[in-house]
Amino acid sequence: MLTDNHNRIISYLRVSVTDRCNFRCVYCMPADGIELSPKSHLLTFEEIARVAGVGASLGLLKIRLTGGEPTVRRDLPQLVRMLSAIPGIREIAMTTNASRLQELAQPLKDAGLHRVNISLDTLRRERARDIARRDFFDAVQHGIEAAIRVGLTPLKFNAVVMRGVNDDELPDLVRFAHGRGAAMRFIEYMPMGAARFDGRNQTVTQSEMLERLRPHFDLERATSGSGNAENDPARGWVCRRSGARVGFITSMSEHFCDTCNRMRLTAEGELRPCLHQNAGVDVRGVLRDGGDDCDIAAAFRQAASLKWAGHRLTDVIPLFSVREMVSIGG
Ligand code: SAM
Ligand code: SF4
Repeated sequence: MLTDNHNRIISYLRVSVTDRCNFRCVYCMPADGIELSPKSHLLTFEEIARVAGVGASLGLLKIRLTGGEPTVRRDLPQLVRMLSAIPGIREIAMTTNASRLQELAQPLKDAGLHRVNISLDTLRRERARDIARRDFFDAVQHGIEAAIRVGLTPLKFNAVVMRGVNDDELPDLVRFAHGRGAAMRFIEYMPMGAARFDGRNQTVTQSEMLERLRPHFDLERATSGSGNAENDPARGWVCRRSGARVGFITSMSEHFCDTCNRMRLTAEGELRPCLHQNAGVDVRGVLRDGGDDCDIAAAFRQAASLKWAGHRLTDVIPLFSVREMVSIGG
């Protein structure tokens, strides 16, 4: 079993399969993108599967593919097939902007992907273009339909809520998700990377979002039986009348670090204990220097031991990572 120094069991690995993305979301990346790693620095599928296999032998149960945008990595279904063959891995999920799901949903499902979380910040075409700095509105809508059609469910939608940008759309987004049998989760905007330095306070907290939703929905806290798993970072709510499900990822106003069960593998092969911690263990070096499974297991243990009790995103002098979200795999 993989445990950290604060008695948390690590059972969930978020795997960034690429640092590339076809969007340039304002909250995630600078307009002209980030400096990309040479392709030779990215882990191969064989390397990712090997690390995940050792992780599974230590007790990993769940893998989530992320990025950058995971679907821009060529032959992604091949990786999913390799991961789904690993004994002990019970769930493979993916976080995506959905723009390439129209063609990839079925091959990914066939390869063993269970479900997707789709980033959806707005239902308005122009606004979507302004946020992503790219025009993929129709592709995203078709991608959402494809995910539902092939059964990459239960589906969750995630929106990063930014003051003055999309904070007037919360009820519409809840209705959109509910109409598709999905939960709508609102992420408190985190001032990371480039966004950290722009000086505006764009974060809308959970309590403010609830205030805005309450006139429209009869919300109560979801019970554990309603799919609000203990390690789910989203604080779950449900509308009594309609059954619509709403979650809040409250990284800014309320830490959920006590129940954190996750670790990250970056596209360049660094095992990182936490999204917000500027620390990691170079597992690519271990792999390419001919390390065996014991060496990879040692890298997992070392990364787990580095895990802080809680992040420091709201500290007066922030100590968290200054890297862009896209390069760590949000
Ligand atoms: N490209 C995929 C996508 O957008 O779903 C996966 C990678 S993206 C980095 C993962 C998640 O991080 C997305 O849900 C995105 O909305 C979120 N994210 C990125 N920057 C953020 C920020 N500054 N604050 C809060 N969430 C952020
Ligand atoms: Fe790309 Fe996702 Fe970042 Fe948007 S949030 S720029 S889609 S990685």
